[in-house]
Amino acid sequence: MAQTTFAEMRADEPDMDWLRSQYGLLEQSFSTATDSAGRAAVIDDWNELRRGVETWVSLSHVHFAQDTRDSEYKKEKDRVDELGPLLNELEVAFKRHLLASPHRAEIEASFGRHAFDLWQADLESFAPVIIEDSVAEAKLSSEYTELKASAKISFRGEELNLPGLGRYTSDGDRDTRHAASQAQWDWFAANGEALDRIYDEMVKLRATMAKKLGYEDFVELGYKRMQRVDYDRADVKRFRDQVRHEVVPLVARIKERQAQTLGLDKLMSWDEGTYLPGGNPRPRGEEAWMTDQAKTMFSRMNPDIASFFNMMVNRGLLDLTAREGKAGGGFCTSLPTYDVPFIFANFNGTDHDVNVFTHEAGHAFQSWCSRDAELVDYVWPTYEAAEVHSMSLEFLTWPHMELFFEEEAEAFRRVHLASSLSFLPYGVAVDHFQHLVYEQPDLSPADRHDLWREMERIYLPWRDYGDLERPAMGGLWQRQSHIYGMPFYYIDYTLALTCALQFWVMSRRDMPDAFQHYLALCKRGGRAPFQDLVRSAGLRSPFEAGCLTDVVGEAERLIFA
Ligand code: ZN
Repeated sequence: MAQTTFAEMRADEPDMDWLRSQYGLLEQSFSTATDSAGRAAVIDDWNELRRGVETWVSLSHVHFAQDTRDSEYKKEKDRVDELGPLLNELEVAFKRHLLASPHRAEIEASFGRHAFDLWQADLESFAPVIIEDSVAEAKLSSEYTELKASAKISFRGEELNLPGLGRYTSDGDRDTRHAASQAQWDWFAANGEALDRIYDEMVKLRATMAKKLGYEDFVELGYKRMQRVDYDRADVKRFRDQVRHEVVPLVARIKERQAQTLGLDKLMSWDEGTYLPGGNPRPRGEEAWMTDQAKTMFSRMNPDIASFFNMMVNRGLLDLTAREGKAGGGFCTSLPTYDVPFIFANFNGTDHDVNVFTHEAGHAFQSWCSRDAELVDYVWPTYEAAEVHSMSLEFLTWPHMELFFEEEAEAFRRVHLASSLSFLPYGVAVDHFQHLVYEQPDLSPADRHDLWREMERIYLPWRDYGDLERPAMGGLWQRQSHIYGMPFYYIDYTLALTCALQFWVMSRRDMPDAFQHYLALCKRGGRAPFQDLVRSAGLRSPFEAGCLTDVVGEAERLIFA
């Protein structure tokens, strides 16, 4: 099995009757076990069972994302959507059993306390009474994904999908990027009614689920679903305020500088992604070439990461280039039965491809380091911690960017830093928006667009959409898939970026030391909650006052020196 390639990997849909009987047996064996070894063996069996189910779920997601038009893949994905809540029900019931067990202390001692905290969150975010709603929610989420993936936009004689068009929205030629932005937003305007309806149904459905589970609003439930066990919405608000007060003014200066560099009187929204007059640096080749360069890069960095990456290439665990019918975005998932991760991306020939590459490689490397974890719960940390591994690798690979950009490597690094800092205000705006939406689930779609414009006034005060009507009326957020599919999953990127930027500062002082801290963090996997992981890597928690001060100082020195 060690050499199985992705194309050969299979996972059968679990038979629900069989699975129910397996869970019955597990509960029985756990109750009748007479000693700690017996109980640990039951937990190991449960873990194996979950690894199999998770492989089926992941594989189905990957297949569907690879070709959203394939009817077999679509059927498989629909089965996951339908069975997901039932699988969750079985899992949660067993977790409840473990949480209530008189032997809990003994199991915590062998498997760690953190798993129990995660399971408690799972328990509090699910009850059989919301099964139907969960199925409906997954269906709406697929509807959004399919709608966006179906986009076919005519642009200067080419027929493009949304990621393909993205190549032109940061073009060096201003008219091109304006026209590409126009084409993109025309598509969103034409589909505005559907996008409004899907989200409206989602918000109301989620509010109902929260009520059924006894919560005041969906915010609290959203946090539980994200398994946030060591911080709450007040902490997140404090973090957003730090970004607002420390980073927004810095980014405003970056935007002024950017307008000067581009020779513009006024930086418009379609200029924001372009930092240099000829356009951002582009990697010098396509997928196969980039993969070769990455092999060289990782071999220069560290033997562990080098052998990991060769394994990914040899076993076909990368799907990198955009093509028709492929779902948008990039992600990394794991296939526990085969002990491997899989990387999905949509390369479109921009500098962004290199960021996506190093980003997803960071995720994949961390999960590879944790593939033998004692519980499947520990293969990945919670999302905000997982993004630390990916975003930090984007910065730790800086010294090797000559491999992709040759003499433009330094320009690339500056663009990467400026665009990363510019991301922070946007990311917290998305988060703040979602809090307001779910605190007032009865707002109309038009109210939500007004709310988003309010967020832009606070966090993106330099933003000017000119003649682009859809974003000007507050529609930009509809492009952000997380807002639809994974509520409250977005602040995670900003929390993680705050940590990754600290790794960047550390690496500028001492790269080998920073990389050792990074490796140690990857090897801890998901065995601890976010703030514990972060502190063990020598970083400050984003919820601490002043966590961004060093980063802002170092960035100012580099950008405005
Ligand atoms: Zn990521």
